[in-house]
Amino acid sequence: MNYQIAIIGGGPAGYTAAEAAGKAGLSVVLFEKNNLGGVCLNEGCIPTKTLLYSAKVYDYAKHASKYAVTVPEASFDLGKIIARKSKVVRKLVLGIKAKLTAHQVNIVTGEAEIMDKNHVRCGDEVYECEKMIVCTGSETFVPPITGIGEVNYWTHRDALDSKELPASLTIVGGGVIGMEFASFFNSLGVKVTVIEMMDKILGPMDGDISSMLCAEYAKRGIAFLLSTKVVAISQSEEGITVSYENEQGAGSVLSEKLLMSVGRRPVTKGFGLENLGLATTERRCIKVDEHLQSSVEGVYVCGDLNGVSLLAHTAVREAEVAVNHIVGKKDSMSYRAIPGVVYTNPEVAGVGQTEEALQSAGIAYRVEKLPMAYSGRFVAENEGVNGLCKVIMAEDGTILGAHVLGNPASEIITIAAMAIETGMKAEEWKKIVFPHPTVGEIFREAL
Ligand SMILES: Cc1cc2nc3c(=O)[nH]c(=O)nc-3n(C[C@H](O)[C@H](O)[C@H](O)COP(=O)(O)OP(=O)(O)OC[C@H]3O[C@@H](n4cnc5c(N)ncnc54)[C@H](O)[C@@H]3O)c2cc1C
Repeated sequence: MNYQIAIIGGGPAGYTAAEAAGKAGLSVVLFEKNNLGGVCLNEGCIPTKTLLYSAKVYDYAKHASKYAVTVPEASFDLGKIIARKSKVVRKLVLGIKAKLTAHQVNIVTGEAEIMDKNHVRCGDEVYECEKMIVCTGSETFVPPITGIGEVNYWTHRDALDSKELPASLTIVGGGVIGMEFASFFNSLGVKVTVIEMMDKILGPMDGDISSMLCAEYAKRGIAFLLSTKVVAISQSEEGITVSYENEQGAGSVLSEKLLMSVGRRPVTKGFGLENLGLATTERRCIKVDEHLQSSVEGVYVCGDLNGVSLLAHTAVREAEVAVNHIVGKKDSMSYRAIPGVVYTNPEVAGVGQTEEALQSAGIAYRVEKLPMAYSGRFVAENEGVNGLCKVIMAEDGTILGAHVLGNPASEIITIAAMAIETGMKAEEWKKIVFPHPTVGEIFREAL
């Protein structure tokens, strides 16, 4: 069987590449060993956001009186929340399958093995291809902490399908995924402790906003142990004990469940990738150029596998760029304005440079900070909630970064991403008319 393109992995990178290549009239075979949609659709972006939305509705119901609405007694049914999440996932997976089929993509269910740059084996069949796009994604990384092997801990997969709510939950890792689960379980009444090795939550996201979110969730009862290193984990009849060390000395937390959420790493082993001899970067990621082509001509590496950004929307754009290069359409990848979002309640979103990154690079900038209360719409819809909008500019007014705490940060951040990607200056950005009243007006206000 001979194809113009073989794609390995049916996540956001793989299915986008397959659809785009199919649309362009190329013959395409796509290999997926699990479900179409990859991590994002089946166990990442979509299921977490579906659960978080139920938690948000429950939060609104509990606090409805702030908006002069009476809800006698808000309650929830965890089984039904999980079932709804699974229904949403199934619906979207079917949608992807339908789109790919409509574009004549041959979907092969099974584990693909790369033999060389023109041959892929799956089961008993060998498939020949002219070009290859490898998109095998990433997997949860669990560090080898003392005792971890003897403990029945959760990863995000278990947390997504928890049948019963634990009374208490320790989350190791206060990054984006850890904080989204912390938000979900906190809203549903679980006693949550977050242990984070860095001195702030949310990794490289803006420091002011990360501190504000941390303070907000501390107010709601989440215990944070920052600058804290987990040194051992053990299980007993009482629960799971996480032992840690920090500046105050040694300590431990006992909880019913433990969620390990320290990070993810590209899936590079077990499917013959080494047969291609691809060059890697200093960080041991696979080296790709601005067209996502690896060091081997005709082999493209997109999505989490190349280790650049580990976000679904980056994966999608990379796949489009790779296919455009294959079909000879002028295009190239830019990582200048990739938004990052945390779907807590309130949401956090950021794009472009942070103050911290500019300071350590010694780049001059100016920053405008504005409380979200400057947006009339925000005030109308966020009774008693604080928020912050920061816009960072170069000395000539070029927009370098924007960071927002407040709903709906996930939706309005694209406005800033467009300004950054197109190289807009504050003066030009201000000339754009924003509809009133919208929360996005906060950017004009900040300028
Ligand atoms: C809990 C969680 C929440 C997340 N939330 C967000 C979010 O809100 N927004 C966001 O942008 N990102 C989010 N992410 C990250 C996002 O899921 C990934 O960035 C995205 O899925 C990457 O897409 P991908 O196509 O590179 O890889 P994946 O989605 O990992 O897909 C890779 C696919 O390749 C298949 N595969 C691997 N090896 C083989 C083989 N040898 N043969 C056949 N098939 C193979 C796998 O089965 C998988 O389906 C989240 C991740 C997690 C874990």
